[in-house]
Amino acid sequence: MSDYRTLSAAEIADRTRKGEISAVEITGRALALASTVGSELNAFITLCEGKALKQAEAIDAMSPEQKSRLPLAGVPVALKDNISYTDYPMTCGSHILDGYIPPYDATVVTRLIASGAVIIGKTNMDEFAMGSSNENSYFGPVKNPVDPERAPGGSSGGSAAAVAAGIVPLAFGSETGGSVRQPAAFCGVLGLKPTYGALSRYGLTAFASSTDQISPFARTAEDLVLIYQATAGRDERDSTSVAFDHPNYTADLALSRSLTIGLPKEYRGEGLDPEVAAALDHTRKRLEELGHRCVDISLPLTDKAIPTYYVIASAEASANLARFDGVRYGLRESRDRSLEEMYSDTRASGFGPEVKRRIMLGTYALSAGYYDAYYIKAAQVRELMRREFEESFKHIDLILSPTAPTPAFRLGEKVSDPLAMYLSDVYTAPASLAGVPAISLPLARSTSGLPIGIQFIAKHFDERTLFRIAATLLNNK
Ligand code: GLN
Repeated sequence: MSDYRTLSAAEIADRTRKGEISAVEITGRALALASTVGSELNAFITLCEGKALKQAEAIDAMSPEQKSRLPLAGVPVALKDNISYTDYPMTCGSHILDGYIPPYDATVVTRLIASGAVIIGKTNMDEFAMGSSNENSYFGPVKNPVDPERAPGGSSGGSAAAVAAGIVPLAFGSETGGSVRQPAAFCGVLGLKPTYGALSRYGLTAFASSTDQISPFARTAEDLVLIYQATAGRDERDSTSVAFDHPNYTADLALSRSLTIGLPKEYRGEGLDPEVAAALDHTRKRLEELGHRCVDISLPLTDKAIPTYYVIASAEASANLARFDGVRYGLRESRDRSLEEMYSDTRASGFGPEVKRRIMLGTYALSAGYYDAYYIKAAQVRELMRREFEESFKHIDLILSPTAPTPAFRLGEKVSDPLAMYLSDVYTAPASLAGVPAISLPLARSTSGLPIGIQFIAKHFDERTLFRIAATLLNNK
């Protein structure tokens, strides 16, 4: 099976169901690549070899009739290391969770396994999903498979790199403000941030609960649909997950009518790389050639997204991360000192600098004298942004924009400048704040060969149109 690295999840599942290939063999290929290519890229924190081989053996032992019911039969999948999976450590890219093993599986994990997927490993990430380059990981940065001197993006860089390098055809990351779309753009794969509430967050370590969303990577539109279809939908264990009409997305990926697509002028701001702008123009031209109508629109609140996002996300993070205090999880420093010293020594040595910065920012924004000026103000702006999207979607079907202002930057280029790092979320944060779904598609390359991601944003729960535009543009290149 010399072609494993280019096989799609759909092909693997199809051949596994027909009995043409064995799940154990495929799992072995994925594990071997994870420990060679994956370790050069530093993409994995933990490999789940023992359980992966058992899952694969169980699939191989099934009757054809049983296998036929598995949409992801034998498909190797990687999970970002903030998604709970029993029997293996979960680090969230942090030192503070040293030795912690989750006592339950995330709902997406349960659903993946029920669909026949094989979990091969837990991927590297920015500490607690805070970052845009993977350089905030306690376990060191991930390298971009396209150019190892460049960042894979963040915070789900390990999952993006694993898919781009052909180690797995599918992986889960998580999104709070762009952490799947931006690394997808940097590594040249597809990344979907589903509607807030479309996939259960049960078992995802909380960063900013009001925008956190488990989100998939894939190399084809069909594969993205497969993983979404297998895992989306209401879960009683996550009260923010939504019961919604869940059609058979796989059945029909053709666009049935011509669309109206809006290009917001604010998404062409200062700092947009000329090659990314050219890729956007090219996409617009292709869409028009395919019979869609592209119109210029305005979303005036766009430049408020970064300040709003960083106030809200940091405020929620400061509350969510309070639980890591040396008592219940992982690391415990100064165990023979007072309780207060144990708390503060554990947090001082367990958290990295970016996480501390967010906790301080968030605590400040929530403090008595500043709550109204920062947190409440940000929550109000967020609501206005949500309405701004809602209003535009009365006139258009999709929004078209760049995913990130530049192609992958160099490792080390932005580490000492947090604001420059935050600005790489400028085009992804708005959809996160509004809770609408958005996708990054690998539609272009720079002259030096770096992938360029193009983003489409849709209205709440209209993932179907995103899947269709992805299939249309990627399958007719
Ligand atoms: N880069 C953003 C941040 O650092 C987004 C992170 C994310 O989506 N998890 O907060």
